[in-house]
Amino acid sequence: MSAADTRGAPLLEVSGLTKHFPIRRGLILARTTGHVRAVDGISFTLMRGETLALVGESGCGKSTTGRLAIRLLDATSGTVRFAGQDITGYGPQLMRPLRRRMQIVFQDPYASLNPRLTVGQSLAEPLTLHGLAEGKALEARTRELLEVVGLRGYHAARYPHEFSGGQRQRIGVARAISTNPDLVVCDEPVSALDVSIQAQVVNLLQDLQGAYGLAYLFIAHDLAVVKHIADRIAVMYLGRLVEVAEKGVLYDDPRHPYTQALLSAVPRPEPGKRKRAVLSGDVPSPAAPPPGCPFHPRCAVAEARCAVEVPALRMVAGREVACHLAEITGGAANAVTEAPRADSAARLRRAQRLAVLGHAAGVSR
Ligand code: SF4
Repeated sequence: MSAADTRGAPLLEVSGLTKHFPIRRGLILARTTGHVRAVDGISFTLMRGETLALVGESGCGKSTTGRLAIRLLDATSGTVRFAGQDITGYGPQLMRPLRRRMQIVFQDPYASLNPRLTVGQSLAEPLTLHGLAEGKALEARTRELLEVVGLRGYHAARYPHEFSGGQRQRIGVARAISTNPDLVVCDEPVSALDVSIQAQVVNLLQDLQGAYGLAYLFIAHDLAVVKHIADRIAVMYLGRLVEVAEKGVLYDDPRHPYTQALLSAVPRPEPGKRKRAVLSGDVPSPAAPPPGCPFHPRCAVAEARCAVEVPALRMVAGREVACHLAEITGGAANAVTEAPRADSAARLRRAQRLAVLGHAAGVSR
């Protein structure tokens, strides 16, 4: 059983969310010549007290999704519901009371703290803004927050540059929980930290979740990091969700070839149990995504239809997966990781040829 309270309505409900950034050319007229499809129609839910990990390579749209979910960015289309309210069209005035309930921890704790303010002043800011404490109570609360995240009350008088990276991230976490939020978006909170410190911060986040019932949207590019904290995992590729599953289901039997490749890169204590699948090529540009399945130019098991038919996210073997071949890619038939190298290369070349043909057909229509 996950830590999530699965009864009742979701805390966060995202439906058909898209974010397309315009590409502008020309200094004077700044004409729109295309769009970067950063997030392309994704849907998911997050329950109170649950951790949903959003995982994928750099540039897949996961950080944009996190910002859209708490309305730091406006969506191009789709809806965001928080605690039962449709907040998609809320302006700053309507969002203000909700801001206290949704917070974010950034990847770079140094950049997210004002170097001119003491740590105590930085922690006091959100409390003052939301009218949660003042005077002696404010001072006591900032000291309490520092102790909750494993620092000392007297650290309130120090400046951010006087702390290590791990300590600064603890301060970032203290700031995020200062307003007693329901939801915290953790945007790669440990990526910039040493491996030995990463576990400490992940443990801290877990302890705080247990103590305060927080829901986390935990963004990471590494499946090894989220293994210990996630209840469910959503794998993203080129702005779309390609597999969403309970943690155990995903780690034991990944079905999407992209998830299989990401998992094969995670170091394992039993060498040889899963072969390494090296993803060839870069992530395609979200300004010109490939036709059909967006993963097909890099997929070792792609078939002809993969270059023309977009696979829908559908239930297969207890998880949602967007792959035409999901029924046969699991278990011992883990096709990507077990496929002979020469066969994989031939399939890739064939898929690329199909992509070119598919694109040409689309253009000529
Ligand atoms: Fe690979 Fe085709 Fe599945 Fe896409 S739909 S992941 S190209 S097998």
